[in-house]
Amino acid sequence: MSNPELPAREAMEFDVVVVGAGPAGLAAAVRLKQLSPDTSVVVVEKGSEVGAHILSGAVIDPIGLDALLPDWRGEDAFTKTAVTDDRFYVLGPSGALRVPNMLMPRLLSNHGNFIVSLGDVCRYLGKKAEALGVEIYPGFAAAEVLYDNDAVAGIATGDMGIGKDGHHKPGFARGMELRGKYTVFAEGARGSLTKALIARYGLSQNAEPQKFGIGLKELWQVAPDRHRPGLVQHTAGWPLDNATGGGSFLYHFGDRLVAVGFVVHLNYANPYLAPFEEFQRFKTHPLIRDTFAGGKRICYGARAISEGGWQSVPRVAFPGGVLAGCGAGFLNVPRIKGSHNAVLSGMLAAEHITTALAAGRANDELAGYEAAWRASPIGRDLRPVRNVKPLWSKFGTFLGFALGGLDMWTSTFGFSLFGTLRHGKPDSATLKPAAACRPIAYPKPDGKLTFDRLSSVYLSNTNHEEDQPVHLLVRDPALQKSCEHDVFAGPSARYCPAGVYEWVEEGGQPRYVINAQNCVHCKTCDIKDPNQNITWVPPEGGGGPNYSGM
Ligand SMILES: Cc1cc2nc3c(=O)[nH]c(=O)nc-3n(C[C@H](O)[C@H](O)[C@H](O)COP(=O)(O)OP(=O)(O)OC[C@H]3O[C@@H](n4cnc5c(N)ncnc54)[C@H](O)[C@@H]3O)c2cc1C
Ligand code: SF4
Repeated sequence: MSNPELPAREAMEFDVVVVGAGPAGLAAAVRLKQLSPDTSVVVVEKGSEVGAHILSGAVIDPIGLDALLPDWRGEDAFTKTAVTDDRFYVLGPSGALRVPNMLMPRLLSNHGNFIVSLGDVCRYLGKKAEALGVEIYPGFAAAEVLYDNDAVAGIATGDMGIGKDGHHKPGFARGMELRGKYTVFAEGARGSLTKALIARYGLSQNAEPQKFGIGLKELWQVAPDRHRPGLVQHTAGWPLDNATGGGSFLYHFGDRLVAVGFVVHLNYANPYLAPFEEFQRFKTHPLIRDTFAGGKRICYGARAISEGGWQSVPRVAFPGGVLAGCGAGFLNVPRIKGSHNAVLSGMLAAEHITTALAAGRANDELAGYEAAWRASPIGRDLRPVRNVKPLWSKFGTFLGFALGGLDMWTSTFGFSLFGTLRHGKPDSATLKPAAACRPIAYPKPDGKLTFDRLSSVYLSNTNHEEDQPVHLLVRDPALQKSCEHDVFAGPSARYCPAGVYEWVEEGGQPRYVINAQNCVHCKTCDIKDPNQNITWVPPEGGGGPNYSGM
């Protein structure tokens, strides 16, 4: 909302405004220019540069890039290692059982896929977009949606130069209004403006609640004799118990690089669980630890993943705007892949916007985009796997995974024994009170293979201007104490992968400390807080992680 006590914001007019320079937003921008070079397109990105906030695996299904930029394979713009070996294991505390590839549903195969840094893919897409005439503004967070009557009319970037206590510092500058005939919201999982739009337009009314996971990742350079370029390895099971969903990935690529990561589904029940510590513990498994002997950890980060799939996708079109990519929830959970659908959805949105602009339309609802995605390759990717996540949540890893596998096999032949299962509760409603759960004793880090949170955050190169308002808004501090602390034993201190939240004793009383400058923008607190009492809003543009090679 415009504030009458402040100077007016400057406004710029575009045909299309894109929020987020991830694969979805950049694919939309590139496609808009390919289809109509005269269309004016601007992209805002809260990271200090394109790719700075991108964290992914990543094994990519090339279906999206092949459609967007058919020459990409021949270009030398980023490292891409073809998958040559694809393995899946179920882990026990000291053993591992390999599931033969012939038993794996065909749609999980990584044959034909590539191992990349998705951040580097975005840097490549950003250059392609700029070469086509797209204006990209990194270091600017979209902080507010602009409306004309009830239609989205663009966004405003956040004001800069506000002190912690709200005073205007010497460099204070108002944000910009970027007005557009259509706005593409491509903020990734749990976008802050996307969340507000879903609430305002009731976009999720006929959908299941969105489900999420937290994905933690480290990038290592390993010893030459440990490197198996092209190897893609996934696991389920240990160190998680049967009732807690999640698993690992390990990808060998490039110059002795190994991307290792761990995903914990955010519908876990025990408030004592710490996804970061589970990840560290996972690396000590006999199947895993040898990979890292003599290696060096070079980057760390974390990011939420949208896991609800087909039945959780909200309405993706509303007056003046659309959702694309993981902000819409287009991620395929059993494949742990969403970047291909991010690209495809950005392209699909661009095609519908171009048609509307050519017809002289503006700020209306792109009903064609809404109608098209389920019958498109995105829908064909998501529909056959729609029951994997609910079966996993209901029956646990072993039985749930087996039933999910069976369902994916039958779906290959066009039918499902289960119809379309529901997810039920949102992830904020799944914690049990601490009194009903057992604390988990995690081993101490050794500083070689396993690490603590603070030395890890250091490797994410996270940086925020310290003298600015805290961007993690706790609506009711008393409720945080009486419920988050007293009932659930302060799970935020454990689920936050960056050590932002702490409960410290002061004069015999617990005090909630928020080290906002450590935040890596994963959005887990916004999702998992049991009272939905924490809201993540964008800090000053340019703040946050500065990932390299992630
Ligand atoms: C640990 C992990 C492993 C994964 N592995 C794989 C894999 O192997 N293969 C695969 O295909 N997919 C994988 N995924 C999923 C994949 O990363 C996502 O599907 C993909 O990144 C979604 O693209 P997106 O453009 O929708 O969003 P994002 O990639 O999240 O990009 C969103 C961009 O928007 C910016 N942004 C957000 N809000 C604002 C705002 N208000 N103002 C300005 N900028 C904003 C962000 O900074 C970011 O740059 C993985 C994800 C995780 C977390
Ligand atoms: S404060 Fe929230 S968004 Fe930031 S790193 Fe922690 S859990 Fe993630």
